[in-house]
Amino acid sequence: MRDTTKHKGMRNKLAETVAAKGITDNNVLEAIRTVPRHLFLDSGFEEHAYQDKPFPIGAGQTISQPYTVAFQTSLLGLHAGDKILEIGTGSGYQTAILLHLQAKVFTIERQKELFKKTQLFFSKAGYRPKKMIFGDGYKGFPQEAPFDGIIVTAGAPETPKALLSQLKVNGKLVIPVGVEDQVMTVYTRKSEKEFEKKTFGNFRFVPLLQNKK
Ligand code: SAH
Repeated sequence: MRDTTKHKGMRNKLAETVAAKGITDNNVLEAIRTVPRHLFLDSGFEEHAYQDKPFPIGAGQTISQPYTVAFQTSLLGLHAGDKILEIGTGSGYQTAILLHLQAKVFTIERQKELFKKTQLFFSKAGYRPKKMIFGDGYKGFPQEAPFDGIIVTAGAPETPKALLSQLKVNGKLVIPVGVEDQVMTVYTRKSEKEFEKKTFGNFRFVPLLQNKK
C-alpha cells in the first residue's frame, strides 16, 4: 500500500487533465488529487492508474475513467454528510471518491469475486462505507432509503423505477442510460410525484445486469 510523491505528482497531473476537460468542482478535483487510484488496480498495472482511461479490474469489469468518475460525482452535487447509494462497487474507486467528500456511502455489487476483493481491500486500506451490499442494484436498497443521491456506475438499458422511488425530495439519481452507449442522465426529485430529467452527453459503460428472477 505504497503512496509516494511520484504518485502524488501523477495525481496532480490527472486532476489538471480532468479540469481541462471541463470539471470545475474544486472538491471533486481535490478528491482526484487525494485518492490513490493506483491502489485500486491489481499490482503490476500501476503505470496505467494515472492515465485518464478506464482499465480492466477482472470479472469482465472496468474501473471507470477518472473523468467519468469526476463528472458523475459533480452531477450528484453532494454535501458532506449526504447519504449516497452507489450501484456497481467494482474496484471501489468511485466509492473512495464519495467517502473523501464525506458522504455516507451504501454500495452494491453483484459480482461475488469483485465484492469480496474490494471488501478486503477497503478493510486493509481503511475505507469505511456505511455498508457494502452483495446483491442486485436494480432494486436499490429500500432498507436505507430515502437517499440524497444515487449514482449508477454501469450502463442501464432503462431507468429502474425502484431507484427513483428511493430518492429524497431534491435528491438526484445520476445514471447512464442506454444499451450500446449511454446518455448520462440526471433525475432530480422535485416532489413526491415529480421528477426533472436532464441529459449530459454520451458515455460507454459495462452493462448494468439484472438478476434473473
Ligand atoms: N464504480 C466502479 C465501476 C465498476 S464497473 C469503479 O470505478 O471501479 C460497474 C460495476 O457494476 C461492475 O463491477 C459490475 O459488476 C457492477 N454491476 C453491474 N450490474 C449490477 C447490478 N445490477 N447491481 C450491482 N452491481 C452491478
